[in-house]
Amino acid sequence: MIPAAPLPQPLSPSRPRWQQAWREAVRDPRELLAMLGLEALADRVSDQAALQFPLRVPRGFVARMQHGDPRDPLLRQVLPLDDELRAAPGFGLDAVGDSLARTGPGVIQKYRGRALLVATGSCAVNCRYCFRRHFPYAEETAARDGWHEAVELIRADAGIDEVILSGGDPLSLATPKLAELTAALAGIPHIRRLRIHSRLPVVLPERIDDALLGWLSALPWPVAIVVHANHANEFDAHVDAALARLRDAGAALLNQAVLLRGVNDSVDALAALSERGYAAGVLPYYLHQLDRVQGVAHYEVADDEARALHAALAARLSGYLVPKLVREVPGDPGKRPL
Ligand code: SF4
Repeated sequence: MIPAAPLPQPLSPSRPRWQQAWREAVRDPRELLAMLGLEALADRVSDQAALQFPLRVPRGFVARMQHGDPRDPLLRQVLPLDDELRAAPGFGLDAVGDSLARTGPGVIQKYRGRALLVATGSCAVNCRYCFRRHFPYAEETAARDGWHEAVELIRADAGIDEVILSGGDPLSLATPKLAELTAALAGIPHIRRLRIHSRLPVVLPERIDDALLGWLSALPWPVAIVVHANHANEFDAHVDAALARLRDAGAALLNQAVLLRGVNDSVDALAALSERGYAAGVLPYYLHQLDRVQGVAHYEVADDEARALHAALAARLSGYLVPKLVREVPGDPGKRPL
């Protein structure tokens, strides 16, 4: 590992520290490679891929990468490569049918009882395999009009009992903006649960600050936070502390991972991910088969291989450490087991 970067100090008393860490993210692929002693990999970096979907990775996440290892599983998740430019049949712009399930600006309703809000297009890290890398965030975020239309859609549908904040990364919004939404939702009697999908507790643990925890612990519903880690090396002491604080604030913690060629496509890697996550208080939830969006084909693991890996994982670990292996199929009433 390269030496851990010191935690950044605040620019001013009024600006949360996490926003400073956010702004200091690495955005230049060649700077990232130089930090890791991997300048020789520069020939494989694609400026065109980076133009389409920029590199962005927090320095604390870079500190968890192995210096000098071109196959580092964290580096592979963020480095734009020529592979992304190769056309692959069956890989499109909207693999999961978001546009078909849209019921309002930034509101997606795929499954019974649940409404998903695309809260923002911002993420602390740009994951190259992202299923929403082509999502039209400029027109489609629920926060754009002060949450008004999204809240009214939910209020009008008494069948919705769970609201899911997704994105982008919903925790990239400032805490007062999140509080504005939940204050409006609190007046809707049929909401029973809040779920938050976020990669921030893992990639930018500074985000889990006192203001966020104060907001979280005052919410009137049980809260599940579904974090996103694909490899055991994504956890460190800062991440453990952030997750512990979220648990102390009353949130149930689950992890969803994506099965990715060259990142976690071995039984050892998947077992280590489940065990490391559990040690940090996170239960495995889903192992997603890759969503087939343009530019990600080089990450795909064939279905037969995915099933064999999952069976081997189930033979090795206690049942509660084995995530469900699923694929999202547009039009299905839930995630489809593989
Ligand atoms: S954090 Fe999630 S939404 Fe953001 S780029 Fe990564 S996978 Fe996509």
